Amino acid sequence: MSRFLSAKYQKLEAYTPGEQPKDRAYIKLNTNESPYAPSPEVLSAVSRETMEKLRLYPDPEGQRLRRDLGKLYGLTPEHVFLSNGSDDSLNFAFMAFAGDGRRAMFPEISYSFYPVYANLHGIDYDMVPLKNDFSIDPADYFHKGAFLVIANPNAPTGMALSREEIRSILETNPYQVVLIDEAYVDFGGESSYPLIHDYPNLLVVMTFSKSRSLAGARLGFALGNPELIEDLERLRYSTNPYNINRLTLAIGEAAVASNAYFAENCKRIMENRERVRASLLDIGFEVLPSQANFLFLKKEAIAGETLYRRLKECGILVRHFSKKLIADYIRVTIGTREEMDAFLKEIKTIVSEEVSYETG
Ligand SMILES: *Cc1c(COP(=O)(O)O)cnc(C)c1O
Repeated sequence: MSRFLSAKYQKLEAYTPGEQPKDRAYIKLNTNESPYAPSPEVLSAVSRETMEKLRLYPDPEGQRLRRDLGKLYGLTPEHVFLSNGSDDSLNFAFMAFAGDGRRAMFPEISYSFYPVYANLHGIDYDMVPLKNDFSIDPADYFHKGAFLVIANPNAPTGMALSREEIRSILETNPYQVVLIDEAYVDFGGESSYPLIHDYPNLLVVMTFSKSRSLAGARLGFALGNPELIEDLERLRYSTNPYNINRLTLAIGEAAVASNAYFAENCKRIMENRERVRASLLDIGFEVLPSQANFLFLKKEAIAGETLYRRLKECGILVRHFSKKLIADYIRVTIGTREEMDAFLKEIKTIVSEEVSYETG
C-alpha cells in the first residue's frame, strides 16, 4: 500500500478471483465457465469492418443489444441496463440502492463479492445464515427494510428458490430494492423477471459469462422497472459511459440471436451434472442438489482442502473456500463429458487412497 491511498480504502479487502495457474495444462473446473465455445454466430460476429470501427467510441446506450435483450424477455429496451460483466451491474446497484442509513442484507454463504461491494461503498450489512441443509429460508427476508441481495440459484451451493418464494420476499419488502442475482438461472432455475411488472423495486441481474460462454467478453445486464434502470444509468454515466466496447456489443447481439444454441449447451450441462452427481452419491459423497453449472460436495473424513490439493496435483482445478462453515466442501464446475469422466476417475482414486490411509 502506498502512503497516498485514501484513508477510506486502506482497510478494503478485495475480492479474490479463482486461480488461473499457468504452470501446466489443467482441466479447469474452478470458475464456472462454460466448457463449450460460443455459438458460430458469435465466432463470426467480429468482422474486419467492426475492427476498423474501433477508432470510434461504441454506442454508449447499447441500443441494439438492449432492444434484442428486451425482446428476448418480453420487455422494452428501457427495462434493460448493460454492464461490463454482471459484477459491474452489482457494483452500480450497491452504489445506487443502499447506504445513507440503508443497510444491505444477503445470505451468509453466497457470492463473496457482495460484502466487498458493501465495504467499498461504506454500506453496513447483515449476513443471514442458511438453513442446516444450506437452503435459503425466504421467511428470513420478510419485512427487512434493507437492500436485499439474493443469488438465485445461490453460489456456491447451487440451490434455488422458486419464483413464488421470491414473490413472497417482494410482497413484504416494498420499500427497498430487492436484487436477484441470476448468474446461474439458465441451468434449471426459475427466473424472476416476469415479476418485474408487479414489483417496481425488483432488479434481476444476469450475465453472458456462464450459460452464454462469454466470460472473457465481460457482458452482463440488469432487468427492472425503467426508473430503476435510469438510476443505474445516472451512475454509469458518472463513471464510464463506454463500459461496453464495440466488440462486446457485436458479440452480445450475435449471442442473443443464437439463444437456441446456448439453451442446447445448458441442457447438456444439466444432464452431465445429474450424471456426475449420481456417480458421486454412489461413492459416498454428500452432494447438494444443484440448479447451476456446478456441484458443491464433500466426503466424510476427507478435508475439502485435501480434495482440492490432490485434484490439482492430477491437473484438475476445483474451488475450495476456507470459510469455516464450508471448508469441508469443494465446488466443481460441470465441464464436458470427457472432463467429468477424468474428474470422476481421479476422485475415486483419491477417495480410496485417503480412506485406506485413514483406516490402515
Ligand atoms: C459469476 C458470477 C457473477 C458475475 O459474473 P460476471 O462475469 O461479472 O458476469 C455474479 N454473480 C454470481 C453469483 C456469480 O457466480
